[in-house]
Amino acid sequence: MYESVVSSIEYFCSSPESRGMLTYKVGISLAEYSSFKIGGRADLALFPKCESALISCVDLLNKNAVPFYVIGNGSNVLFSDSGIRGAVIFTTDMNTFSVDGNFIYAECGVGITKLSRVALDNSLSGLEFACGIPGSLGGAVYMNAGAYGGQMSDVVLESTYYDPRTKTVNTISSDAHKYGYRESIYITNPNYVILSAKMKLSFADKANIKALMEENLRARREKQPLEYPSAGSVFKRYPGYYTGKIIEEAGLKGYSVGGAQISSKHAGFIVNIGGATAADVKELIEHIKKTIYNIHRIELECEVRFIGE
Ligand code: FAD
Repeated sequence: MYESVVSSIEYFCSSPESRGMLTYKVGISLAEYSSFKIGGRADLALFPKCESALISCVDLLNKNAVPFYVIGNGSNVLFSDSGIRGAVIFTTDMNTFSVDGNFIYAECGVGITKLSRVALDNSLSGLEFACGIPGSLGGAVYMNAGAYGGQMSDVVLESTYYDPRTKTVNTISSDAHKYGYRESIYITNPNYVILSAKMKLSFADKANIKALMEENLRARREKQPLEYPSAGSVFKRYPGYYTGKIIEEAGLKGYSVGGAQISSKHAGFIVNIGGATAADVKELIEHIKKTIYNIHRIELECEVRFIGE
């Protein structure tokens, strides 16, 4: 089905200027690439190692009319059981970063927890909240990831993205991200492919930065069901409510559909206790939404992104 695109990829991979900059696999199990451990098969997976290879992948797939998704570490997604008839570009092999004074530049695939440790090593404060978030920088910029009073919008000075329609690389400054709670310009423009971001941090005492990071990690271990596959908090916080608390108060802790269960440790998490399908998770989500609506008359909104048919 994708013979022509695969031969174009092979040609790209073997050309002297791009050799080693891209790997690919035909037919993958998406479950292996999601923190939920859920998902059917994708026809094609591409793993660019640099920005220009990522752009080439996007152009190549568009030229061949192959539908595709750009995914970071797969820690905020629910891949569908029937998978993806098309391609997935995974950015996690894009690992370049640099530190310049109190600025950190990184490609989209660098882990946000890794960047928080880089910040610590350089006595830079601002990313303590991100320590323990299992996503890539691209996913964190896209989602405006946040925790413990901090969020990406506090530190992102600018980000650079590729717009496949105009074939241009654009850099936007912090205000242009239109950041809100789990909101960004990238969510409203899903065609944009985030290439990299620059963060502005501030110099601070290393011991204090380390202490705060350890405190955040301790809180995660204590409160989150890290022993099971999940995608973190399933729902966004509803103004004036603690989502996990109202789900718990509704008596739903431990409620399950198939292999998907509302965590008995943290009711804001749905965990895969073994063999969960995307259909199980979706049914559970609907059950939670309905129950909470009946009690509070509020509509919970999902933070997790649904990917695939
Ligand atoms: P993915 O899941 O790969 O993708 C998420 C979305 O971003 C998708 O729509 C994808 O298409 C898009 N995307 C990713 N990269 C790009 C790119 N380069 N260009 C364009 N679009 C892109 N989140 C929090 O905010 N705070 C937390 O404290 C937190 N704790 C978590 C704890 C656990 C145990 C788990 C499993 C998840 C947690 N999360 C948390 C959720 C998740 O880790 C974050 O949302 C993270 O930022 C997602 O990054 P990712 O690389 O995994 O994104």
